[in-house]
Amino acid sequence: MSEKFDTSQLPRELASVFDELVARDPHQGEFHQAVFEVLSTLTPLVERKPEYQDLAIFERIVEPERQLMFRVPWSDDQGHIHVNRGFRVQFNSALGPYKGGLRFHPSVNLSIIKFLGFEQIFKNSLTGLPMGGAKGGANFNPKGKSDAEIMRFCQSFMTELQRHIGPNVDVPAGDIGVGGREIGYLFGQYRRIRNSFDAGVLTGKGLTWGGSFARTEATGYGLVYFAQEMLRARGDSFEGKRVVVSGSGNVAIYATEKAQQLGAKVVAVSDSSGFVIDEEGIDVDLLKDVKEVRRGRVSDYAAERPSAHFFSEGSIWEVPCDVALPCATQNELGLEGVEALIHNGVQMVAEGANMPTTPEAIDELRRAGVLYAPGKASNAGGVATSGLEMQQNSGRTQWPFEETDAKLHQIMVGIHENCLATADEYGVPGDYVAGANLAGFIKVADAMVAQGLI
Ligand code: GLU
Repeated sequence: MSEKFDTSQLPRELASVFDELVARDPHQGEFHQAVFEVLSTLTPLVERKPEYQDLAIFERIVEPERQLMFRVPWSDDQGHIHVNRGFRVQFNSALGPYKGGLRFHPSVNLSIIKFLGFEQIFKNSLTGLPMGGAKGGANFNPKGKSDAEIMRFCQSFMTELQRHIGPNVDVPAGDIGVGGREIGYLFGQYRRIRNSFDAGVLTGKGLTWGGSFARTEATGYGLVYFAQEMLRARGDSFEGKRVVVSGSGNVAIYATEKAQQLGAKVVAVSDSSGFVIDEEGIDVDLLKDVKEVRRGRVSDYAAERPSAHFFSEGSIWEVPCDVALPCATQNELGLEGVEALIHNGVQMVAEGANMPTTPEAIDELRRAGVLYAPGKASNAGGVATSGLEMQQNSGRTQWPFEETDAKLHQIMVGIHENCLATADEYGVPGDYVAGANLAGFIKVADAMVAQGLI
């Protein structure tokens, strides 16, 4: 995988960090991609922050503090026994307890969890809240499983994970394949084994047992708040914009809802089997019912909505739009996709998923002058609201929806300002990638310097 990354564009000090990392774990392509993207924006720090090099901050920050892999045995409704692999990578706790989601998806492996955990460090730093970075999950496929099977899997997963987490240690949450239902089963098992109602051990909880208002909506809403700031900085807005949103999970649904509240029309959403075009604009209530209540597919949405058409062939990125919001998964938007978007006049791409745009595709967006928001800034609203949930749990309180949403909005506006101010300070004005990476990194690195060699 390393041949994919041109280290000659990095200063010698950073190139050697990357080469060593690739040599140590040669098959972790997604992790290499995430690290390379960050390192390639940190060149100015080699000169401006000599202490980082003296104290081996670059070498230390790319190595997780702790990596856990464990067996997750469970039995299905027929009594057949299955074994999955569970993961928790506790990447960095310089700023606070480890924090980050759990992903249940058949593609999950150590490379994917490490890339996600690495991104999470800087994303969490950008929120301004005291959270370290972590990620976990399992190569478990929740699709087609009964509620009882999901529950048994979650209980088995937590039976092992519980010894490694806690409100001041590590606070998991959801990600792909882990939503409110799974967090409920995970929390129940944690509470039973530990005999302790530690509300702050997980975020994304139900509203009657320690959850936060606006956490469900937070990643999608936050993405649109961030994108709105990018448009505003250019004297523009979402009003009248044609928007394409990939995915149809939690992030996609609430990005669609907020974009339409702000006057945009979302004309397409997707899932792994295809995409839907709805020229009337996506009916969010119907989409929620299909996806959240019935756990169906976007083809079911199209079947019930006269203005919608389902396509199992072709690409959602060929649908003409002003704004594209990739909200599905890593590397879903490649060179061909951005070429189609650019050809059709796209003005902005803002990431709701983690690392959805490939490196070649990002280069092409930059060449074409398309506004581009990296996920670690634009999708930070989810974990930011998890941070707000932790605050409420510590205070044994619950804030109303409007208050929580207003705090989320303020945090996204703050991240946007911070990215732009940092990009200016480092001589790359308007570069959201460099701004996000530098701002996120410096805060963590300075904390590591202050806390000594650990
Ligand atoms: N999985 C989400 C993310 O990628 C949220 C993590 C959390 O709330 O801890 O940021």
